[in-house]
Amino acid sequence: MELPARVWNRFLDELKAMSGAFYFGVSGGEPLLKADCWEMFEHCGRKNIVFGLVTNGLLLTDDNIKRLLDCGIYHINVSIDSLDDAVHDGMRGIPGLLRRTRANLERLVDITRQQKIKLPIIVKTVVCAENLPNQGLERLVGYARDLGIAGVSFQPLAYLEWGDKDENIEQMWKVDPALLRETVERLIRMKREGQPIVNPEPVIAEWPDYFAKAPAPERTSPCTVPLRNLRVYPDGKIEVCGPLQVTIGNIATDSIRDLWVSKPVKAKRAKLVKCRKTCMGTCVVKRRSRDYLELFRRLSR
Ligand code: SF4
Repeated sequence: MELPARVWNRFLDELKAMSGAFYFGVSGGEPLLKADCWEMFEHCGRKNIVFGLVTNGLLLTDDNIKRLLDCGIYHINVSIDSLDDAVHDGMRGIPGLLRRTRANLERLVDITRQQKIKLPIIVKTVVCAENLPNQGLERLVGYARDLGIAGVSFQPLAYLEWGDKDENIEQMWKVDPALLRETVERLIRMKREGQPIVNPEPVIAEWPDYFAKAPAPERTSPCTVPLRNLRVYPDGKIEVCGPLQVTIGNIATDSIRDLWVSKPVKAKRAKLVKCRKTCMGTCVVKRRSRDYLELFRRLSR
């Protein structure tokens, strides 16, 4: 069951009281489909809570763009997996989606430019077997460059080790290793040339091992994700590590302040800090100081 905005707002207020500044990233499903999402976004605007959105772009109408800008949104990520209609629409299961998403994204770029608003706009792309052929990822980088947006953020397909196997995901996982290596080489070259790719180079270099499910190299530093990230699901479940699905409570019934300092949660976090997994995606592993600087430069242009 999806929690109402008032529960989210209570949670956000508690987090703000605990930590001062923090970043609230809203993704989905499709966040703009949540009936009372505006209550949440307007709350963020009133309370100076930094928030950003990952959207499929379908509901980025002029009205909604204006409302988001009025709420002081910090960044918008638009999901585009390919510039080929058949690939993107096929992956997302909505005929005509790419055409409409591109039109709305381009309108968003125009509006922010006309109003001289510095809004980092990022194309968010799932890396999988479907969109590697025909230099599909490289062409997306070219599209972002021509639009003049902050860049493309690639997210290698998440392989779920748990739950029922999904045939579509299994298919999407079957990348051609040679094609993937060539793509990685080209993307790294493009990144070195200054083309708009948000991912750090060492993370891109690791995709072939990730898709081959090769053993992770030894980590030399602790994982700080469980010390500073929370993932909260629409039903309120709170995780401190997404890939390992480590749950600590629920925002509908628990106080995050009490949870954070409770012995069981401290013990879970302490164990995770020593995690030896090299994970992709939202776990910020293998990001060097110069990668943070580059990201900052890209987002604040
Ligand atoms: S490295 Fe381990 S603990 Fe850290 S986020 Fe990834 S899976 Fe979780």
